[in-house]
Amino acid sequence: MLRRLLAPLMLFLLFAAVTGGVWWNALAHALDRLEERGRADLALSGDRLIGQLQRYREMTVLIAGHPQIRQLAERPDSDPVQAHLVLQKAADITGSDELVVVGVAGQVLASSDDAARAGRDLSDAPSVRRALQGALGFHHEVEPGTGRRLFVYAAPVFSDDGPVLGAVVARIDTEAVEVVWRGEPMIVFFSDRQGTVFVSNRDELILVDLVRRDGGRNYLGQDARRLGGHEIWVLNGGPYLPRRALHLTRPLPVIGMTGEALVDIAPAERQAILQSMLAAAAFVVVGAALYALWERRRALATRLAAEAEANARLETRVAERTRELSQANELLRRTQAELVQAGKLSALGQMSAGISHELNQPLMAIQSYAENAAQFLQRGEPGRAADNLSRIADLARRMGRIIRNLRTFARQESDGMGDVDLVAVVQAALELVEPRLSRAAITVDWSVPDAPVMVRGGEVRLQQVVVNLLSNAADAIGQGGRIGIAFDRHGTRVSLRIRDTGPGIREPERIFDPFYSTKEVGASEGMGLGLSISYSIVKSFGGSISARNPAEGGAEFTVELDAAQGARAA
Ligand code: ADP
Repeated sequence: MLRRLLAPLMLFLLFAAVTGGVWWNALAHALDRLEERGRADLALSGDRLIGQLQRYREMTVLIAGHPQIRQLAERPDSDPVQAHLVLQKAADITGSDELVVVGVAGQVLASSDDAARAGRDLSDAPSVRRALQGALGFHHEVEPGTGRRLFVYAAPVFSDDGPVLGAVVARIDTEAVEVVWRGEPMIVFFSDRQGTVFVSNRDELILVDLVRRDGGRNYLGQDARRLGGHEIWVLNGGPYLPRRALHLTRPLPVIGMTGEALVDIAPAERQAILQSMLAAAAFVVVGAALYALWERRRALATRLAAEAEANARLETRVAERTRELSQANELLRRTQAELVQAGKLSALGQMSAGISHELNQPLMAIQSYAENAAQFLQRGEPGRAADNLSRIADLARRMGRIIRNLRTFARQESDGMGDVDLVAVVQAALELVEPRLSRAAITVDWSVPDAPVMVRGGEVRLQQVVVNLLSNAADAIGQGGRIGIAFDRHGTRVSLRIRDTGPGIREPERIFDPFYSTKEVGASEGMGLGLSISYSIVKSFGGSISARNPAEGGAEFTVELDAAQGARAA
């Protein structure tokens, strides 16, 4: 269970790591670029503000040296009309809110503004105090009654011989400065040392206290965080301020303020999200491709395994079948050997009557020859007795041959292959069936060759084949006919032909089938195995056996065998 969950979990973690990594990297890059641009813009804004204020500062110093102004400062009780005109003109040209000349005690002597009455006391203003001490004064303030934000420059008015007579004070409304860069995309503001925003291109930020956040005065509700080396403010400042912004600062010691900028990071975030989504999509596509590849390999492996298994099954089946087959073969071989033996015994059964007659006849002859010989000896005719005795010996030899043939024929073991004299085989077979042939008055036509005809085969089994063919011929003939025996040689083959004058074969194509017989079952007759046994015997010698009905009548069987090696050469 755990192992099954492990792979998807790892995959998911990898996916999250890749996507998160790409997001983080993209965001860091985008923030770097934002900061770079923001810093450049902030520097520009700061320079511009300083440049604008510089104009007022120079104007203030210049007016402080104006003869009309100095005159008024020298004689504060004189008519301020000339000075008023100078101040008014300068204010109109520079767009200052108000230009004022104060006396040495800080009391207003003249103003660019008609309505502004003389007698006002500006000695409290820090810049005026500084100017009356002989230095150029500068400060900013929020006008108590109107709430207007003012920059104030104060330049000392010196007498010819040195001491300060008064000061020229220029009050500049920040609106005049701000109006130039309202609506710029980047939020810029300038805060003083107390942390109050004094100038900004966004109304929402003006006079917001950036330091004291707890008292509810902090309109921004900002929360600062650091993100990859950047300071990010999380704002809660209404629809015109971004939710999250990059905060940049730049100290402006010339005017005693800090320039600050807020750059919306939403585009950077969008870009980072887009890139991470692209990475996620790529991950999914690549992952899917890899998964498909892996699946295919797995399917292939499964198929190969299945094939290997099927092959193994097939092989064991083949091995099993082979074993069964060889067992069956062995059984067949044994059965065949048994059949051969059975065929022989059946032939012997058929021949036994004839053979016992054949043995009986010489036995009777021997008996009478022996009796006669005894009489001849009594009569003193040893010559004739000896003649009888030699006949007896001949007959005994003949009987011995018959018995030997029978023994050989009946022997169970199958002799091996070798070179066999076919003439001797036919002679032995003829001797075995002779009693039967003579009883049926069948004549054998055979011109016995002078030399042996050597062939490849087993003597006893070959004899069995010939006995079988001769017995079948005798069966077919019945009474009083002829059997012809002949040898032929062509090349390396030798054939033995046995023909008879019987009625011929009824179904030549079936006679080699086992258990095919036209003879009556029972009696002395066979069971249709003789020819099929002969067939397999001859086949086992590499020979062949065939049968036909010759045109002149009867049946003819031909056994063809390989000639023996030595005989072939001859
Ligand atoms: P069986 O002798 O027991 O019938 P065989 O296999 O020796 O069995 O012979 C099969 C059959 O072939 C015989 O029944 C017979 O019909 C036929 N046959 C064999 N030899 C001859 C022959 N010389 N002439 C005519 N038919 C024959």
